[in-house]
Amino acid sequence: MPKLKCMECKKEHPEEVRYTCDCGGLLEVKYNFEKIDFDLNEARKQPIGVWRYKALLPAKKNVSLQEGGTPLYECKTLSKELNIKLYVKNEGANPTGSFKDRGMTVGVSKAIEFGSKVAACASTGNTSASLAAYSARAGLTCVVLIPGGKIAYGKLAQALIHGARVVAISGSFDDAMAMVQEMCDKYKIYLLNSINPYRLEGQKTLGYEIYDQLNHVPERIILPVGNAGNISAIWKGLTEFQNLGIINKLPVMCGIQAEGSKPLTDLFKKNLPELIPEKHPETIATAIRIGNPVSWKKAIKAICNSEGLAESVTDDEILSAQKLLSRKEGIFVEPASAASIAGLLKLIDNGEIDSGEEIVCVTTGHGLKDPNTVIDSCKDELIEIKNSGELYEIISSL
Ligand SMILES: *Cc1c(COP(=O)(O)O)cnc(C)c1O
Ligand SMILES: [Zn+2]
Repeated sequence: MPKLKCMECKKEHPEEVRYTCDCGGLLEVKYNFEKIDFDLNEARKQPIGVWRYKALLPAKKNVSLQEGGTPLYECKTLSKELNIKLYVKNEGANPTGSFKDRGMTVGVSKAIEFGSKVAACASTGNTSASLAAYSARAGLTCVVLIPGGKIAYGKLAQALIHGARVVAISGSFDDAMAMVQEMCDKYKIYLLNSINPYRLEGQKTLGYEIYDQLNHVPERIILPVGNAGNISAIWKGLTEFQNLGIINKLPVMCGIQAEGSKPLTDLFKKNLPELIPEKHPETIATAIRIGNPVSWKKAIKAICNSEGLAESVTDDEILSAQKLLSRKEGIFVEPASAASIAGLLKLIDNGEIDSGEEIVCVTTGHGLKDPNTVIDSCKDELIEIKNSGELYEIISSL
């Protein structure tokens, strides 16, 4: 049985409904690898996806929608233009359209083990879409708290159609997060934000899969950072593969934030001892519009131990990266996900990335999650005509 280990005081807790240590520290699921029998070649007889790695997960598969096993696309056009070797790990191909499903299949499976009947989360959108779907499938009641008016339409539609109680608050994601934590304590509701260590266990399989699909470790992994759970989870997965003797090197981890919401980037660049929350986070990339990232301590550890970095990009850079990836590679991702591509371009410009480097950009959510932003950024491109003469004019100029 794995234990829950505190990152601060190192105390080990048994498996139980608990999100932080008594000292307030974040928890991490800890395994005794000597007692775990995991052979990747044996595991490869199972279809690729979260549950291929079940020997390294803390729950039985109680609920699943076939999450993980997302494509790792080789991006030949962009690689050539940028003089690197670029892959995109497209998490938008998950059942509800984001990597959150990896965490939810494990987290909701754990909720069932614990006998919980109600699950809850605060969400900028994708967490609620995912929790709503997995709760529906598992027969749990689901409550989600969202920042009113600040969530993308596709995500709101998902939470509603799966029957979650969707509660919009008149505050930011960070306010919703504080509210839901208090509510879950008070009413013994199972909390499925990324502070929940079991959810990150599902998400660490993203790291496993990158190695599993590439057959080696890339030099660098770039991904967007909001609450900072995912970068921590990917790093945990890869360090576990190293501890198991499956890999013998680790990638450089690069976390990308939006300019209007970049507390982790400031922490890293200014070498601050503590994270200073951004009180008024602002960005069109709503999935990373988070001012007080819960998992910042885990994330900064991943960044520093991998000799990585945190960087920020503007909303304009995000929107043009979204177009670039859609038009050069046929991969449509939501704005937050395009931050990884925008970050890549900035790091190339800065001279941080060497030519020929092999890089995996993680695109975290599907483009259709947020149609409004796209329609807005492409509105000048819509062509309206009155007759076929005008049409032929257009066609002959192609
Ligand atoms: C949740 C989410 C993120 C941020 O991930 P964190 O683990 O909170 O850092 C980024 N992009 C998308 C699309 C997301 O849904
Ligand atoms: Zn502790």
